[in-house]
Amino acid sequence: ASMRETRTKKTKTVCTFCGVGCSFDVWTKGRKILKIEPSEDAPVNSISTCVKGKFGWDFVNSRERLTKPLIRKGDAFVEASWEEALDLVAEKLSGIQSTYGPDALGFIASSKMSNEENYLIQKLSRQVFGTNNVDNCSRYCQSPASWGLQQTGGIGGDTGTIQDIAGAGLVILIGCAPAEGHPVLATRIKRAHKLHDQKLITVDLRRHEMADRSDLFIRPKQGTDYVWLAAVTKYLIDEGWHDPLFISERVNYYDEFVKALEPFTLEMAEQTTGIAKSTLIKIAEMIHEADGTAICWGMGVTQNIAGSHTSAAIGNLLLATGNMGRKNAGGFPLRGHNNVQGASDMGTMPNIFPGYQPVADDVVRGRFEAAYGREIPSQPGLDNIEMLAAIEYGKLRGMYICGEDMAWVDANSNHTQEMLAKLDFLVVQEIFMTTTAQFADVILPGVPSLEKDGTFTNTERRVQRFYQALPTLGDAKPDWEILMAVAKKMGYDWGYTHPSEIFAEMASLTPWFAQCDYDVLEGWGSFHWGSLDGSNTPVLYADGFNFPDKKARFALHDYVPPVEFPQEFDLTLDNGRLLEQFHEGNLTSKSAGIQHKLPEVFVEISPELAKERGVESGSLVRLESPYGSVKVKALVTDRVDGKTVYLPMHSHSHENAVNLLTGNAVDVKTHTPAYKQTKVRLEVLRKD
Ligand code: SF4
Repeated sequence: ASMRETRTKKTKTVCTFCGVGCSFDVWTKGRKILKIEPSEDAPVNSISTCVKGKFGWDFVNSRERLTKPLIRKGDAFVEASWEEALDLVAEKLSGIQSTYGPDALGFIASSKMSNEENYLIQKLSRQVFGTNNVDNCSRYCQSPASWGLQQTGGIGGDTGTIQDIAGAGLVILIGCAPAEGHPVLATRIKRAHKLHDQKLITVDLRRHEMADRSDLFIRPKQGTDYVWLAAVTKYLIDEGWHDPLFISERVNYYDEFVKALEPFTLEMAEQTTGIAKSTLIKIAEMIHEADGTAICWGMGVTQNIAGSHTSAAIGNLLLATGNMGRKNAGGFPLRGHNNVQGASDMGTMPNIFPGYQPVADDVVRGRFEAAYGREIPSQPGLDNIEMLAAIEYGKLRGMYICGEDMAWVDANSNHTQEMLAKLDFLVVQEIFMTTTAQFADVILPGVPSLEKDGTFTNTERRVQRFYQALPTLGDAKPDWEILMAVAKKMGYDWGYTHPSEIFAEMASLTPWFAQCDYDVLEGWGSFHWGSLDGSNTPVLYADGFNFPDKKARFALHDYVPPVEFPQEFDLTLDNGRLLEQFHEGNLTSKSAGIQHKLPEVFVEISPELAKERGVESGSLVRLESPYGSVKVKALVTDRVDGKTVYLPMHSHSHENAVNLLTGNAVDVKTHTPAYKQTKVRLEVLRKD
């Protein structure tokens, strides 16, 4: 064994952080991670990586890793054997199932787990427990973007590849900050902008790095993107700058759409969004002049009550100008987590099976019922927002949460914590003792990607393999093995010996993956899903949109104005990421180098507001929303302006975490929390 431990080994892996999907070799010796080595063979990033992919791996060997199953005894957790822990999980979950029915259980999947593991979570929920109550964290971020693209093109994924963003004549970034959130993708845009005369428009409340580099930077009022998008589309059509041939051949509902756009004049848009008429015209001109427009968007669009409708408005604009279904153009929601696309693709949502096949469709359901050997409810289950509500009403009694820190990342996290505390039984499958895990009755220790085999799917629908680089730690097990063990205790012997068999089963039930398997994905190989014949499809819709008549659809939806707050909450709270940390920092905060660079969060305050309130950089302030309050140091910066303040989401402190402030409003179509529609008031606690 000692010989083996001292051998230096090189293993190909895929980054565990953002949705760009960088891959690289990791050099290891025993459990030691020696270095990350990028490779020209990496299809997305070649030799580029960012600070997280390169230096963010200390968490894997953190002393805080969970290495043994834990069972709650009163207020404490005691270590248990796998046998004991799994027996208890099976006994309690089946007890709830038989007393209250299958729909008294809810399952939460993880965008950090592999595709194979996500597939098994939905299988566990549907086959073993008989409920469609299964969801994943795309509900918190990108569900509205997927919805908007499904409404217009028919598929809820990026319409092309990162290469198509780089190749577009114009890139429009709306409510996303890729230099911070998707760094390697941002370098592609920076290069195209510098070397190939690509034009760049940034639309955001905060003047982040990409905004500084843009040809045009605009700050609409919070929650009004729908209006300027509709007005610019109307203006393009009025000027005859749309693509009539593309529309007549490939898109339905044009006349209805033109009628629906009537109210969105430039004057109305200027009034509602605060963007000058001349600027709106400038945007339209830039789209008209560009050879291919790519629109990238993020949480600034989706985490609003109009997130779905706004995403559909982006789809409409792209269709009106013939910018979908072709190279070097299209719609690109920038997925946050490395496998948030994959988690949804694998059917961990209450209304769909893998490949977005509707649960309510009898033919589809029949196929899964035949494969799973049991009846599956025809009604969609509860999403994670509905699950919390069902706990409140005593309808949901047990939950199984995989790698998702709901108690921390949910909007209005105080409320989520109250709900989790009410459950009869909570299983948490995790690698760390997260805030959510502290509410568990049983904690099952999983492993990070470096300790198992599997596949991840990045933001451009690209599936890539990662390989086991390290031995598993302590008694922790690969998550697919844990899920399989739970199923077995419940009488379902799945019998997989390797994730490739899980992938093959999924592909056999999911037309989009028909021509994909572990051989195709071997090494640096990759595969983009998106065609019904199951072939590799980097650009969607070249042969037709994903509707029965192969035509796209202009989506007709109303503008939903922003949430109203009592007047005393006079400041707009924006929130998001900074470069070094990832999300709530569960992983990155365990890297000493990263933690050193960004040890604590601060609230960004504009020079105008600072002057008005007597705040200086370093002053301690209290921010208060109708839902809670935080204490945080101020940073005076012109990245924000006027009455907008920006609080990064990376805090892990009960003093200053942003979700103590965010509220209960949700997107009208998908229930994504309106994290970006929060108002606060500010009190200065200490100046200095
Ligand atoms: Fe990882 Fe994203 Fe950075 Fe690439 S850009 S190394 S995927 S965090």
